[in-house]
Amino acid sequence: MEIEKIDDNIYEVPIGYRPGMRVPGRIFVSAALREMVEPGTVDQVANVATLPGIVGHSMAMPDAHLGYGFPIGGVAAFKEQGGIISPGGVGFDINCGVRLLRSDLQARDVQPLINTLLDALFQAVPSGLGSTGRLHATDRQLTESFLRGAEWAVEEGYGVESDLDFCEENGSMPGADPSQVGVKARKRGRPQLGTLGSGNHFLEIQRVEEIYNPEIAKRFGLFKGQITVMIHCGSRGAGHQICTDHLDVLSKAVRKYNIDIPDKQLACAPLGTPEADHYFGAMVCAANYAWANRHIIAHWTREVFDRYFPGSQLQLLYDVAHNVAKIEEHRVEGKKERLYVHRKGATRAFGPSRTEIPAAYEGLGQPVLIPGSMGTASYVLCGQDKALDLTFGSACHGSGRVMSRSQALRQFTGKEVKAALNRDGIAVRSTSPGMLAEEAPQVYKPSGDVVDVVHNLGIATRVARLVPLGVSKG
Ligand code: 5GP
Ligand code: MN
Ligand code: MN
Repeated sequence: MEIEKIDDNIYEVPIGYRPGMRVPGRIFVSAALREMVEPGTVDQVANVATLPGIVGHSMAMPDAHLGYGFPIGGVAAFKEQGGIISPGGVGFDINCGVRLLRSDLQARDVQPLINTLLDALFQAVPSGLGSTGRLHATDRQLTESFLRGAEWAVEEGYGVESDLDFCEENGSMPGADPSQVGVKARKRGRPQLGTLGSGNHFLEIQRVEEIYNPEIAKRFGLFKGQITVMIHCGSRGAGHQICTDHLDVLSKAVRKYNIDIPDKQLACAPLGTPEADHYFGAMVCAANYAWANRHIIAHWTREVFDRYFPGSQLQLLYDVAHNVAKIEEHRVEGKKERLYVHRKGATRAFGPSRTEIPAAYEGLGQPVLIPGSMGTASYVLCGQDKALDLTFGSACHGSGRVMSRSQALRQFTGKEVKAALNRDGIAVRSTSPGMLAEEAPQVYKPSGDVVDVVHNLGIATRVARLVPLGVSKG
């Protein structure tokens, strides 16, 4: 059975596409991007639609591609009564997310120092696979990071209190249960607090190249020619281990509660059962750890900028989670309901009617941060109320891969990729050349096309385009 175009940028996966679907699927893509969606991704959208208690549609954003069970770029909401929670709908890097810092600096003043700055940032923020931090967190500090995330980080002297207003969930989600975090996850998490990680994770110095919406840009504190810093990272080994451990438990729960799933990667548990509660409590620990992590990294970034540009005091524009399950109120058939919204490689995009947006952005909507690649533009958008009708208040989280890591390694060398970026005036630092090949700009869909889809759908409106000047990759 074919998927059907039902509107500009909306394709429907009909209920008959696969046995057991409870709701239709929706894939939000343009005709051109539709060509880039692999059949496996469509199948995954259909598989998710079979899960108990799913509400509305099983959705995929324009950056969607194959993931573990759920597609990356997937959004699915489940009823509190009769629904499920699934680690596959959150991802291994729990609360992987993006934070944007804005400065008062002009790109022309920073450009001559870009290599010095990048070296200093590469030094100040530990990165690379399995990298360990400068922090040396104690067991007690680790627990505090699980319980209180960025709020704890501020108490420890990283960042300032007012930063918390500019983090989704204020950087600390309620419901953490450290007793559900295993010894191995703690062991991996402790030395890695305050590290960037590797590969797709990055710290990037950018220039605001274009303002699309001057009114919103002004309120977000953005102007043309400005220097911004984007940080992309998550919960490191802690989140990964928590996901792995609970997948084990939930695989058994599938049998225990007799849930019929078309793919074992969709392991899940009915909401309200101990297995679901335990996963949720552990997932929140990882989410909070990730907010603390981004807070610490932002602090060290500020220190470096202050060293070279005294008084530059980078301000936090916003911090979004793009791998998380959250309890949110949404209107379902005219009635307000509490739902477990899974966003896996998807960004919340709440519009002005939601109380969750920062007071400073009242009347506008939340900033939606969409990275491009180390060679192409990233975007700042502003969430719109239309997203509540279409996507449970969600948008894409990036450009999305079109090429696997192994294929990229066959096609490019790190040296070539670096040389090409340098020719475009982009400085890069990386812990391994192979990583640069795997992350070549060509492995991602064109970011502008992906962003056009959410803008044209009215989910989130374009505010600014940011281009890379210097990238520190893991
Ligand atoms: P993910 O969270 O799925 O690993 O990645 C999110 C998005 O980040 C990717 O879809 C890609 O568009 C973007 N991205 C990956 N590497 C870089 C980079 O070095 N710089 C920027 N600006 N974006 C990147
Ligand atoms: Mn990640
Ligand atoms: Mn990510």
